[in-house]
Amino acid sequence: MKKGIFFGIALTAAMLMGLGTAQAKTQFVTIGTGGITGVYYPTGGAIAKMVNKKKKEYGIRATVESTGGSVFNINAVMNGDLEFGIAQSDRQYQAVKGMAEWKDKGPQKDLRAVFSIHPESVTLVAAVDAGINKIQDLKGKKVNIGNPGSGQRQNAIDALEAVGINFEKDLQAESIKASEAASLLQDGRIDAFFYTVGHPSGSIKEATSGARKVRLASVAGPGIDALLAKYPYYAKATIPVSMYPGAQNDKDVDTFGVKATLITSAKVPDEIVYAITKEVFDNFDEFKKLHPAYSTLTKKQMLEGLSAPIHPGAMKYYKEAGLM
Ligand code: GLU
Repeated sequence: MKKGIFFGIALTAAMLMGLGTAQAKTQFVTIGTGGITGVYYPTGGAIAKMVNKKKKEYGIRATVESTGGSVFNINAVMNGDLEFGIAQSDRQYQAVKGMAEWKDKGPQKDLRAVFSIHPESVTLVAAVDAGINKIQDLKGKKVNIGNPGSGQRQNAIDALEAVGINFEKDLQAESIKASEAASLLQDGRIDAFFYTVGHPSGSIKEATSGARKVRLASVAGPGIDALLAKYPYYAKATIPVSMYPGAQNDKDVDTFGVKATLITSAKVPDEIVYAITKEVFDNFDEFKKLHPAYSTLTKKQMLEGLSAPIHPGAMKYYKEAGLM
């Protein structure tokens, strides 16, 4: 009897201790994404899902945060507020080199790349009644170029400048989040908006399926060609309009694009970055099914478009897997 009670207490104590260590070991990591109607938000969710399945093995619990986008995410990862973030490849390049929004702060030395994900294109969504067929038609219009933390803002400014439109003087520029732009366009409060995003995206679906007729306008021409020749991180792209049946387009739309990438900090432990990389790559077919924007992804492509040094935790996996 006594022995039985003692055994019971010992067992309970052991269980509690065991629980205590398991809890102390759980490491919480947050992935910064974008607006919930973009592709970053479900992408963060897909990555978190892959690693959370192995919570017992790794002791990692990943969660996702909706944010203002690429620039916000890079800054939050550099400040230590987030462990991971999704950011456009062009913004990764600029942050590493201390360009654009990082001109005053200088090169972000601790920025590390993990992998790249889906392609994103500079998408110009415009009301048909505003007479906008192409970026060159934006003069004098009310256009959302994006919130300051977003990736699209600088893409919009670059594209406008490339076609001779000054965003401060030649149009009425708005600085609102992409998640609000679709309803503002439908309500007639803006004529067009820029969004650098993967396709299909909830936001572009919302913008093109309302009562106000909307089309995807082209972002092309000699000025844009010169822009692409100048910057290594921009490349030609086309948006397949079949993804947006409500859009008033009869052929695919010419524009340029970048890639979505997963970034982190040199300060994030190797084992965490290794676990996330391994789970996404080892379960690649399952990962690819989580969003239609990943349909053409290959493992090899996921190592392209990275300007920051690859985090050692990710590198360990790429070497093991023979990808590097
Ligand atoms: N490319 C956008 C940005 O950097 C976000 C797109 C998305 O959320 O899918 O702000």
